Amino acid sequence: MLASQPDLELIQQIEALSGQRASECYQCGSCTAGCPVGEMMDPPPSRGMRLLQLGRAQELVESTGIWLCASCVVCATRCPRGVDYGRVAEACRAARLRAKYSRVDPDTIAVDETEEIPQQAFVAGFRKFSG
Ligand code: SF4
Ligand code: SF4
Repeated sequence: MLASQPDLELIQQIEALSGQRASECYQCGSCTAGCPVGEMMDPPPSRGMRLLQLGRAQELVESTGIWLCASCVVCATRCPRGVDYGRVAEACRAARLRAKYSRVDPDTIAVDETEEIPQQAFVAGFRKFSG
């Protein structure tokens, strides 16, 4: 399947934010085999990379799997191609949030918006903007 134009732009955004290139992955599966939450992740890391290669970036950005990644870097240490999927997942989360919010700032976010914002985004927001 060829990537549609919106997905191509999204892939470029994810690659720019993450510093990782989808074409580097040769689908060996080592990242998924070592990922501590790989069995619960949908998609798991190697399949996430495959979705990007197939131009299905929107599907990855809307997946639940990107929110399960704990940024533990096990996948990056196992990847023979030097791909850090944790950065890809983080870039996907950022792309998804940026489509709706300019940033998640705990000091200014409306109370009625808090239920739809993922907890991980809130934690990251507290780290960046409070204190
Ligand atoms: S960084 Fe994320 S995707 Fe990679 S092994 Fe850890 S939890 Fe899994
Ligand atoms: S370990 Fe690296 S090359 Fe292998 S599937 Fe994962 S991202 Fe692709």
